[in-house]
Amino acid sequence: MAWRCSGGSNADLIHNMERNGLINSQRVKEAMLGVDRAHYAPSSPYEDSPQPIGHRATISAPHMHASACEALLPYLQPGSRVLDIGSGSGYLTHVFANLVGPTGTVIGVDHIQPLVSLAEENMAKSKEGRELLESGRVKFIKADGRKGWKEGAPYDAVHVGAAAAEHHKELAEQLKAPGRMFVPVESGWMQHIYYVDKKEDGTVVKERKFGVQYVPLTDAPEE
Ligand code: SAH
Repeated sequence: MAWRCSGGSNADLIHNMERNGLINSQRVKEAMLGVDRAHYAPSSPYEDSPQPIGHRATISAPHMHASACEALLPYLQPGSRVLDIGSGSGYLTHVFANLVGPTGTVIGVDHIQPLVSLAEENMAKSKEGRELLESGRVKFIKADGRKGWKEGAPYDAVHVGAAAAEHHKELAEQLKAPGRMFVPVESGWMQHIYYVDKKEDGTVVKERKFGVQYVPLTDAPEE
C-alpha cells in the first residue's frame, strides 16, 4: 500500500490515502490535513512508511495513523477525552486534538523523556500546535503507558502506539462506558490490532482485527 499512497506534499499523501480507501471520513481527512507531517517526521514525511525518530522509536506509517483515527472516530467527538500511549513524535496526538476540538483533551504518554520533549518541540513548530500546548488541550507526560494515566481518566478513546505483550487491565479500566481502545497486542511472533470496547453497561468486549508490526511496549530503557 505504501507505494500507492506516498505523495509530494502533505495534501497529496492524504488525498492518496483517501483515494485508496484508507481514509473514509471527511472528519479524519480534515484533521490530518490540519497537521503537516513534516513537523513530526525528520525524513521523507510524505512517504507512506514508518520513519525512525531516535531512541528505537518510529513515527508510524501514515496509513496506520489513518486507520487508528477511523477506528476510534465514533469516540472522537467534540469534547472527548483521549489517551495516546506511546505518543513518540506527537503526530497522532495532534490529529486527535483536531478531531476532539477546542473542548476536548488529549494526553500523550511516552516513557522516554527525550521523546516527550521531542513531541512538544514538534508540536510547537506550528501556531495551532503552540495553542494546543498553551491552552492545555494537549499534554505530553512521561510515564509507563502500560498503566495508562489514571489522573486523566476516564477516556472516551485510548490509542496504544506500541505492541503490548498482553491486554493490560488498567487500560480497559480507564475507558469510559461507552469507550474504545485501539491496541496492538502480541501473540507469539505475530501482532494484531484489537478494538477493546467498553459497553454502556460496563462490559468489555475485545475484537481482533488485523495483523500489524509495531515496536514493543516495554520497560523504560536505563537512563
Ligand atoms: N504514535 C507514535 C509511535 C511511536 S513508536 C508515532 O507515530 O510517532 C512507539 C512509542 O512507544 C515509542 O515512542 C516508545 O518510546 C513508546 N513506548 C514503548 N513502551 C512504552 C511504555 N511502556 N510506556 C510508554 N511509552 C512506551
